[in-house]
Amino acid sequence: MSTNTHGNADGTGYDVVIAGNGVLGLSLAWVLARRGQRVAVLGLPHRPWAGSAAAGAMLGCFGEVTTSLLATEHGRAKLELGIKATGMWPEWLAELEEGTEGAPVKTAEGTTVVLNTIGTAEIDDANYQAIRAELVRYEEPFEDLEPTDLDWVDAEPISRPLRAFHIPGEHAVDAAALLERLESAAVRAGVTLVPEFATRVAHRGERVTGVVLESGRTLAADHVTLAAGARTQELLDSLPVGPRIPRLVSGYGVSSLIRTADGTTPDSVVRTPNRSFACGLHVVPRGDGHVYVGATNVISVEPRDTAEMRDLVFLLQCAHRQVRRNLWNSDVAKVQVGNRPVSMDAFPLLGEGGMQGLWVMTGTYRDGLHLSPLLAHDFAARILGEEPQNDLARFAPVRRPIQASTREEIVDVLVDHQMGIGYEQDWTIPVEWHQWIEQDLRPATLAWADELDPEFTPPAELLFASRFDPELVSLLRKYYATCREHG
Ligand SMILES: Cc1cc2nc3c(=O)[nH]c(=O)nc-3n(C[C@H](O)[C@H](O)[C@H](O)COP(=O)(O)OP(=O)(O)OC[C@H]3O[C@@H](n4cnc5c(N)ncnc54)[C@H](O)[C@@H]3O)c2cc1C
Repeated sequence: MSTNTHGNADGTGYDVVIAGNGVLGLSLAWVLARRGQRVAVLGLPHRPWAGSAAAGAMLGCFGEVTTSLLATEHGRAKLELGIKATGMWPEWLAELEEGTEGAPVKTAEGTTVVLNTIGTAEIDDANYQAIRAELVRYEEPFEDLEPTDLDWVDAEPISRPLRAFHIPGEHAVDAAALLERLESAAVRAGVTLVPEFATRVAHRGERVTGVVLESGRTLAADHVTLAAGARTQELLDSLPVGPRIPRLVSGYGVSSLIRTADGTTPDSVVRTPNRSFACGLHVVPRGDGHVYVGATNVISVEPRDTAEMRDLVFLLQCAHRQVRRNLWNSDVAKVQVGNRPVSMDAFPLLGEGGMQGLWVMTGTYRDGLHLSPLLAHDFAARILGEEPQNDLARFAPVRRPIQASTREEIVDVLVDHQMGIGYEQDWTIPVEWHQWIEQDLRPATLAWADELDPEFTPPAELLFASRFDPELVSLLRKYYATCREHG
């Protein structure tokens, strides 16, 4: 166990200070405090920009499988972490619910994956098959369903489900209830919540010594864990090691809570495979006649806290057209906006941060909430100097960008998803135009990738976003130049 050697002026000091009060920061704090560590968690109580608060929160593992994920060893490693995390949730929830009061955390029994007429063969058929194949490979139970047996689903006829299967072991939780319980469990275990933002990490030479707060106060600590979601970048920028870690941007997303007109909800998650650079259309039961509908995903340099009309209209239209028509007459109880922490290679940033006492726990993109119990236990072990429980070496924060696919493969994925957005938005154009557009889109995107950088290609959603966002272009170019400089 580490000993605290850096006291504050008032004699206090922490073993671990965690910047960020989202699901990852709180989960880690809870585990560490139960293991006798003095822990402080920093963050404003209303959690601005948090991904956790807007999340589904599907404990999505197989449901998140895509052909692109499986095409790389890094992607498969992520899937295997997800499978392991699924196994940890029953005990994690039992412990959490035993020690705290509040709304039930688990809200969905299982996940029903639907292939509907709106999807494209390249994305939806392929990903639907890929999910099924992985369920078979990992011997995870599932059951094929007749689309007509999907009780709660009542899509409009041209968006109706063609095929479906149910995964009984893949559930969902209520993100707000989870955060509330985690916070009270952490406090009960002795964690100090500091309702302030960190502005920078304090360090002496190669060793971090604590965190400087907005008020100017410094919290001294042996270990500093950065878990501030998409905003972690600002803290990394305060450190000499910052430029050697893939930059973070935001996968800004909109979701909504709907009070259903007839008070009914499905028992399980109902979702499509991932599509259109996002996490698929999904409806998740929440208590009291409410459902969650999610979610959009748009790469944005700055985290956002309001929903763009385009994204909200798109989301709500998809929900009532593709899942249940009477959502149209239901009440929009809440519009939620969150930011997924997305690194410039789209893989997580997990582990030691390249300075003594510095830990980076972010970049979790679409499934950070699902991975939270696994990462909390794993990071706690690492911080306490124990043998790590998982091999996270390939996601070590100090790295060159992971180039998991070739430029041509990335462009192919981009074109498939970009075309998919058109079909999902019901575009009506003369029939040959689809082919004409696709024919020109591919070489144009390839030329753009060549122009962006001769050596590195960002993942499809970043490459796509970069075409319309000069600020992202400049960040990518600067980041790639730094990568070459550091070899
Ligand atoms: C719409 C949407 C749907 C999603 N659905 C799912 C899902 O179904 N399943 C799943 O597993 N994942 C899902 N995700 C992804 C998941 O939410 C994230 O991967 C995960 O929540 C990240 O957690 P975090 O704790 O790292 O960051 P966050 O939840 O973003 O929390 C970071 C916290 O740090 C605070 N902060 C910011 N700056 C500072 C600072 N300087 N000092 C201190 N604190 C700071 C913020 O206010 C925030 O509260 C979804 C995300 C979105 C946006």
